[in-house]
Amino acid sequence: MYFNMKLKGIPNSGLRRIAQVSVDSLREEQVRTVDIETMSVEEFLENPLAGYQYDDDLPNEANANQPDAITLGPKFFELDSGGRSHVLSHENAHRLVDQLQQQEGFWDELWGLVDSGAFGSERYKDGDIAGINGQYTPIENLVEAFAVYISEPEWLQKNYPGAYAYVADTVGDNQ
Ligand SMILES: [Zn+2]
Repeated sequence: MYFNMKLKGIPNSGLRRIAQVSVDSLREEQVRTVDIETMSVEEFLENPLAGYQYDDDLPNEANANQPDAITLGPKFFELDSGGRSHVLSHENAHRLVDQLQQQEGFWDELWGLVDSGAFGSERYKDGDIAGINGQYTPIENLVEAFAVYISEPEWLQKNYPGAYAYVADTVGDNQ
């Protein structure tokens, strides 16, 4: 069944909420992964945290492409603790957005967000956008919006109020 009911009591963003997901898991994971933020590669390999793995050949800092583990590469361990914290939040936010993507109507809603300027008004000819923290694809902007909603909500609200409102609606914080 196509879920297209207008939900009541969702203020401000003017956008339809397609699913409610919880950011509690992101907050809990941020606490659980705090040790990884200061470990060396060797320390991580001696004491790997469940749900995380290391790949010496990974070209970027980390990815969430594997269903059962987030993969960390050498570049991750070159970051300071703040940088690592942000990468971990971003990769875990991918899990949350994966859940949203299962919902009917997700892509229409995402492009509606883009068109509303929620990820910034500057748009390139090929459809890419100059968005949150340099993200340029709509899906990565949404992931980043969830990550920053946890780590720097005031910054997100000030700079990307539409994205902030959408995340707050989606996680039920505006009720
Ligand atoms: Zn990403």
